[in-house]
Amino acid sequence: MMYAINRCRVTNVIMSNVRSMHLLKEKAFVNGKWSAAENQQTFDVYNPANGKVVGSVPDMDVSDANLAIKAASEAFETWKLTTAKERSKLLRKWFDLLEANAEGIAEIMTAESGKPLTEAKGEVVYGNAFIEWFSEEARRINGEIIPSPVATRKILVEKFPIGVVGLITPWNFPHAMITRKAGAALAAGCTCVIKPAEDTPLTALAICQLAHEAGFPEGVLNVITCDRKNAPDIGKLLCTSPNVAGISFTGSTYVGKLLNQQCAPHIKRVGLELGGNAPFIIFDSANIDKAVQGALASKFRNCGQTCVSANRFLVQENVYDEFVNKFTEEIKKMSIGDGVNPGVNVGPLINEMQFNKVYTMVEDAKKLGATIKTGGQPIENLGKLFYTPTVITNVSASMQVYNEEVFGPVATIIKFQSEEEVLKVANNTERGLAGYFYSQDISQIFRVSKLLEVGMVGINEGLISTVEAPFGGIKESGIGREGSHYGIDEYTYIKYMCVGNLG
Ligand code: NAP
Repeated sequence: MMYAINRCRVTNVIMSNVRSMHLLKEKAFVNGKWSAAENQQTFDVYNPANGKVVGSVPDMDVSDANLAIKAASEAFETWKLTTAKERSKLLRKWFDLLEANAEGIAEIMTAESGKPLTEAKGEVVYGNAFIEWFSEEARRINGEIIPSPVATRKILVEKFPIGVVGLITPWNFPHAMITRKAGAALAAGCTCVIKPAEDTPLTALAICQLAHEAGFPEGVLNVITCDRKNAPDIGKLLCTSPNVAGISFTGSTYVGKLLNQQCAPHIKRVGLELGGNAPFIIFDSANIDKAVQGALASKFRNCGQTCVSANRFLVQENVYDEFVNKFTEEIKKMSIGDGVNPGVNVGPLINEMQFNKVYTMVEDAKKLGATIKTGGQPIENLGKLFYTPTVITNVSASMQVYNEEVFGPVATIIKFQSEEEVLKVANNTERGLAGYFYSQDISQIFRVSKLLEVGMVGINEGLISTVEAPFGGIKESGIGREGSHYGIDEYTYIKYMCVGNLG
């Protein structure tokens, strides 16, 4: 059985709280102005919890994207000449406004993404922190003087902004995926054309309104909105336009590969944050209660729709039963519903595509003999996109849940015997974003951290993202790092200047 949504169309805005009203924009933002699509088309944004329309935004195409690129390109000529302190001050002002409007942004985010309000508030804190961080990092993009082998020469190294950057972002973190990129780009002196996901453009426009209020010059930050059918053409334009110096993308590995191919002939700078398939390993020596708490946070945040979510729980045989029982009991206590309701900790899936994917994967596991410890079905009385938090055991290598990123509230648990065996299973994937393990054995901690083929490791921790640390993957999970002081490198190039014939 597959689910399709009968959208309940309610025209106009349904935001209940006035706090968010001035942030709820229904135009895109190009060259410092709120703009409609040239062809006047719009598309609706739906609340996944109830299918109602939250707002309508311009359905832009390549002609609008070209205008945004032109504006960003012209703005770059002056923005690149601003001092680090000037950029830092503007970013700080933006951060202060983001902080002052945190509640309103979170309300919009919950309405369009379905994530529980407490989680949305958490994302706003996290997302805002990138603007604060990069307002500080803007003033530390230091050069270097390297000792010259020739007495009459000086070797100077300086970092410069690469130019206009295209930022393409997903729906699962509608705020933080933008600020993690745009904060670094603006700090470095680049200008931006941002294309948010079809499902969550309103959060992007809300934070853009606050950037506008902060006083960024015209054309420095542009947001173009479009629905799914226009995304490939706009993406292609950003990858091939001679006026765009680089692309930063967060989303699926499939689209990331496509963008990488499109950029290759033009030798553009590419930053990719793609899908994961995170192992979550519990060794015999682990503190099981802490492992259960870490597992819950890692798996069920954002209804499991997080690229660093634990995707495969691998539990050593002596603690297997204890972990499975305690984890399952905690999951049964979870409160599922519309994210605006207090106490809800799991919301709906984002759209029918995601819902159908999760539904199909669990049905496949059932058919191939897996055991459903809890959940394993939709919750139709709540709405069309709700799925019960699920635990699956007796998983085999032929099942989709074993091989693919679930991106939903479904935990698969597999028993293992030795460290050697579990490392083989954990690394037997083309993905390499995050990995987690729980162990109290210090030698094992260093050994396993070294051998896990991922860009980020949580050791006795289930939530590890923070602005100070570099976020990114290896293998097919991506190229480059975001956040931290490394994040700026994606948006600068190094220039070597040789001053010769010195007296
Ligand atoms: P997606 O389909 O790749 O979409 C991501 C963004 O790319 C959206 O803005 C989308 O626009 C746009 N897009 C789609 N097709 C495009 C194309 N041909 N050219 C240019 N842009 C295109 O991914 P998703 O379904 O939103 O997100 C789920 C996947 O992203 C998961 O696999 C997850 O692991 C990964 N993810 C990774 C990270 C990370 O940091 N590594 C973070 C979040 C998600 P539309 O919305 O209009 O289609």
